[in-house]
Amino acid sequence: MSFYGFNEPFWGSLELHIYPDALAVVRDLRPDEPVILNRPHAARRAARFFIEKFPGKVLYAVKANPAPDLIQILWDAGVTHYDVASIAEVRLVRALLPEAVLCFMHPVKTAAAIREAYFEHGVRTFSLDTAEELAKIVDACRDPETGEAAADLRLCVRLRVSSEYSELSLASKFGCDLIEAPALLQEVRQHCDWLGVCFHVGSQAMTPFAFVQALDRTRAAIAEAGVVIDMIDVGGGFPSTYPGLEPPPLEDYFAIIARHFEALPIAYNAELWCEPGRALCAEYSSMIVQVTKRRGEELYINDGAYGALYDAAHVEWRFPVRALEDDLIEPLKDFSFYGPTCDDADYMKGPFALPGDIQAGDYIEIGMLGAYGAAMKTGFNGFGEAIVVMVADEPMASLYTGQRTREAVDNVVSLR
Ligand SMILES: *Cc1c(COP(=O)(O)O)cnc(C)c1O
Repeated sequence: MSFYGFNEPFWGSLELHIYPDALAVVRDLRPDEPVILNRPHAARRAARFFIEKFPGKVLYAVKANPAPDLIQILWDAGVTHYDVASIAEVRLVRALLPEAVLCFMHPVKTAAAIREAYFEHGVRTFSLDTAEELAKIVDACRDPETGEAAADLRLCVRLRVSSEYSELSLASKFGCDLIEAPALLQEVRQHCDWLGVCFHVGSQAMTPFAFVQALDRTRAAIAEAGVVIDMIDVGGGFPSTYPGLEPPPLEDYFAIIARHFEALPIAYNAELWCEPGRALCAEYSSMIVQVTKRRGEELYINDGAYGALYDAAHVEWRFPVRALEDDLIEPLKDFSFYGPTCDDADYMKGPFALPGDIQAGDYIEIGMLGAYGAAMKTGFNGFGEAIVVMVADEPMASLYTGQRTREAVDNVVSLR
């Protein structure tokens, strides 16, 4: 068990003690602070699944959860490539994994970050979506003595694609438009021996067809540009499973991506990559919170919008919940949550179904917080301390246990 103050990095090494489940933690600790429960076996299983079944290379998108313990687990499970988006992520992963291949996939970087990544951390793969960024990368990687351009850059042009099939959009901020893509691809080709195209369909893509529209756009851009493409990176967006957001099996995504990849006009030995964040780590963590007050159907709990529940507050994500008390007997009822800070924004609409007689002092486990959850905790307002322990039980939901939550790919694409 380890304990973190809110002004310290939120992660650290874990002791070897493993609790059977959340209930055992509550009985042992009666914790006053939220407790993050990590499940190394769940992250390992997700990584093995992707490595064995995705028809290409699997990069872990570090921003989904940069906890060093998790990164080590993924490496040990066979994930060798990491999608990093900031110089801090580059340094973090490099310090942990001297052998890992780091790919700097944020399309807007500072020259200093590019230079340090290239010269000090061995980064060769960079993404970009404008000619300005291309010039910045080429200049930052010149030999400081001779001024000669680097000959070993591996560059990826980020294409803007639709986020319409995903719960969280990544469509408006990055990516070059289809109309500009051919010229940019031709220009980038002159500066590297290895040219890729990448995109991101938005996070939690609820149908495999999200990747079809993106690969169609990719095909149009490549055909128009008439350049040799060495790699296609279909990005992240692979879903996890949450109440009301149960996706088709990941195998269906992989199969559709493989079929459309094979039909692209690219080099015969071109590589296929993906960059899952959420799908590799959502099942890794859950959290124990305590009810501090009940007001009708609103429960005040000791973590919230500024803690691990950012998505519950800001995009009304419904995470799975369960009460960790033996003596609650009433049937389930819908509740919403207030977090611990002093502002109204610290509110999570839910609904979260819990026993009707739940009250102040009771503990709740909130599941599926390994992605964009445990990693997002802040110390705002003096809250944010948490205990971290390991547990051995199954996550509250899983895409990797062999039970298909939905039988087959929907023929009707009608989500959102
Ligand atoms: C956030 C991000 C990812 C991971 O997305 P998920 O939806 O978590 O799989 C992958 N690639 C890039 C470039 C990203 O910005």
